[in-house]
Amino acid sequence: MQYKTGIGYDIHCLAAGRPLFLGGAEIPYDKGLLGHSDGDVLIHALCDALLGALALGDIGEHFPDTDPKYDGIASSQLLNTVKGFVDMDGYKINNIDVVIIAQAPALSPFKKEIKQKLCALMDIQEDVLNIKAKTNEGLGAVGNNEAIACYAVASLVKD
Ligand code: MG
Repeated sequence: MQYKTGIGYDIHCLAAGRPLFLGGAEIPYDKGLLGHSDGDVLIHALCDALLGALALGDIGEHFPDTDPKYDGIASSQLLNTVKGFVDMDGYKINNIDVVIIAQAPALSPFKKEIKQKLCALMDIQEDVLNIKAKTNEGLGAVGNNEAIACYAVASLVKD
């Protein structure tokens, strides 16, 4: 068995009047994440974790924010492309662990929906994906509810 591991991190600013997407799920809230795409900070961190495991650079290299074709794109499409790289290299997702850091809204009620969305997007079983959500204890920009950050770790396996 061959194993590969990658880490991903991302942070996006919150702004009024935008929809909030996390892991492809739309979370009811009066602010959303700014970004060239839909700002889905969770999917961006996850893409970077998968790209890291494959030694394929980072999300900015594959989907440059200077390219108008990614203007307003659903991040689920980016994840679909990156999952394609995993498949092409002959790897399977061994497990993924995600930490979302948001002062608000409270994300516990949405963890299940986020998990189901991501499992469907990547065609994986729910027992290989873990979603954790925490606040930043009121500290810094995230704690001040100006941004949401996310960390992800992905482990891939090949027979
Ligand atoms: Mg991003």
